[in-house]
Amino acid sequence: MKLSIHGSRGSIATSSRSTQKYGGYTSCFEVITDNHQIIFDAGSGFKNVKFSKSRASFLLLSHFHHDHIQGLPFNPELFDPKNEIIISSDLCDIELVKQNIRKYFSPPYFPFDIVSSLSNIEFLPFDAVREKLDKDISLNSMRLKHPGGSTGYKLIEKNSSFIYLCDNEFEEDQRKSLTNFSKKADLLIWDGMFTQEELADKKGWGHSSIEQAIDFNKAANCKKILITHHAPNRSDKELDQIAKNLPELFTLARDGLEIEV
Ligand SMILES: [Zn+2]
Ligand SMILES: [Zn+2]
Repeated sequence: MKLSIHGSRGSIATSSRSTQKYGGYTSCFEVITDNHQIIFDAGSGFKNVKFSKSRASFLLLSHFHHDHIQGLPFNPELFDPKNEIIISSDLCDIELVKQNIRKYFSPPYFPFDIVSSLSNIEFLPFDAVREKLDKDISLNSMRLKHPGGSTGYKLIEKNSSFIYLCDNEFEEDQRKSLTNFSKKADLLIWDGMFTQEELADKKGWGHSSIEQAIDFNKAANCKKILITHHAPNRSDKELDQIAKNLPELFTLARDGLEIEV
């Protein structure tokens, strides 16, 4: 599998000289398998995804907060009817997924209703997506802690595993199940929007800390951990400082980064 990061910023897109290195696009992670293009979330980074010509494209949404869906109709390739994409989520019933996308991308919030206008978008229940994938691929999900809910995903192709846990407010009562879900993954994406110090007065905001990822991995033993959902005001300089003190195996996600899983 190959991962391309199109958006690693949290909450709201940023555009300034001080965030150029890590980037300002919001959540969007593209995984290429032998026969599929599987995109996790459509934050503003979705705008830069190139539709695969030879693979079936899927978009899996963790939840519907603006920073995870906002980029959807800003990818110009979506307006080419040949670029078919299946949208799904295990957060809720597929009719509700469709309704939520339609609500957000129709007047008065968006110039037109993209769901009824774009025939190349198909909404498919999560179980149907799992069945559609190649036999050597397994896709599972897990409910995360986040206001309104969020869904984590685990994608395994052959012997490579990719875990996407965004957005999540880590709590002790999920340690066991989350550890089992993530155990020994080749690559784990972790919502590390805050530092431990900041987290103290951000209870209930729905995000975890970078330090929690380090602690979590003592038992989860993932081979590589990417911290993402960087706070919008976090400058490159601050992120570089954080990166310097991270243990081996830990990396800060940045827009444009590509990794073989
Ligand atoms: Zn978010
Ligand atoms: Zn969220």
